[in-house]
Amino acid sequence: MQILDGKALSKKIELQVTEEVKLLKEKCGCTPGLAVVLVGQDPASAAYVNMKKKACDRAGFYSITHDMPESISQEAIEKTIIMMNNDTNIDGILIQLPLPSQIDTTKILELVSPEKDVDGFHPFNVGRLVTNLDGFVPCTPLGVMELFKEYNIDVKGKNCVVIGASNIVGKPMASLLLNADATVEICHIFTDDLKRHTLNADVILVGVGVINLITEDMVKDGVIVIDIGVSRTAEGKLVGDVDFENVSKKSSYITPSPGGVGPMTIAMLLSNTLKAAKINAQKLKDQAKDAK
Ligand code: NAD
Repeated sequence: MQILDGKALSKKIELQVTEEVKLLKEKCGCTPGLAVVLVGQDPASAAYVNMKKKACDRAGFYSITHDMPESISQEAIEKTIIMMNNDTNIDGILIQLPLPSQIDTTKILELVSPEKDVDGFHPFNVGRLVTNLDGFVPCTPLGVMELFKEYNIDVKGKNCVVIGASNIVGKPMASLLLNADATVEICHIFTDDLKRHTLNADVILVGVGVINLITEDMVKDGVIVIDIGVSRTAEGKLVGDVDFENVSKKSSYITPSPGGVGPMTIAMLLSNTLKAAKINAQKLKDQAKDAK
C-alpha cells in the first residue's frame, strides 16, 4: 500500500507557482491577484479562507478578502463582484460557499467573469470541462488528477466509482475521469446498494461527508482509494469518508484525510490563479500593442 501524499505534492506545486510568480513579476511587473468573498461567520468557511489567504501570501500573490455579514443583500454581493470583474489587479475571484439562504447562489456564480473564475464553477467553464476544452477546472477534482499524475496512475480503462454528485466535487471529478478515458460510475444518496458498485471499482473516489461510509468489506484487493470527504468527529478530530485503518490494508494506493486531497485543493487554487494572471497579462500586453 502506498500513501498518496497530497501534503508533499502540494508543497512542491506551491514552490513551482512561487518561482513562476517571481518570473512573471520580473517580466511584466504583474502580481497575480485573488479576491475572496466570505459571507457570514461560519468557522469552517473562515478557516478555509484563512488557509487560502496564507497560501497566497506564501506564493507572492496579492489577495483581498471581502468579509460580508450574514444578512447581506443579493445586490450588495453582485455590486462587489462587478467591481472585481473590472479590477485589473484581480485575476481570480472566489466565492466561498455556502452562501446564506436569502442569496441566489447560481446567479452569483454566473456573475463572476469566466476569465476570473478560478474555482471553475461558472457554467461556461463547466461546459468547457464537459467538452474537454481548456478552461478553469474546480480545484478539488483537479488536485486529485494531479495526484494521479505524480504517482503515475493511469485511469484509462479503469472502473472508477465516484461517490457524491455535487457540482463542486463529484460531477467535475467524473468529467475529468471520463476525459482521461476511464469508465465512470457516479453514485449518490439515492444509489441503491452502494457496495455492489464499490466492490467492482478499480478506483473509488468518495466526497460525501459521511464518516466511515467506505469500509473494508466494500472494496476489492488492490483498489485505489481517494478520500475527498472531510468531517469532524464528536471529539473534534478531522476525518474523511473512508475507514482508513482497515481499507488501507486492501488498497494499492490511498489518500489520507486530512493530508491528501485538502492541501491539493489549495495548491490548485494557486495554480488556477497563476493561469488566470498569465492570460490577463498577455491580454493587457496585446491591448497595449493594439493601442500603438
Ligand atoms: P454536498 O453536500 O454538496 O454533496 C454531497 C454528495 O454526497 C451528494 O451528491 C449526495 O447525494 C452524496 N451523498 C450524501 N450521503 C450519501 C450516502 N450516504 N451515500 C452516497 N452518497 C451520499 O457536499 P460537497 O460540497 O460535494 O462535499 C462533499 C464532501 O467533500 C464534504 O465532506 C466536504 O467537506 C468535502 N470537501 C472536501 C474538499 C477538500 O478540499 N478536501 C473540498 C470540497 C469538499
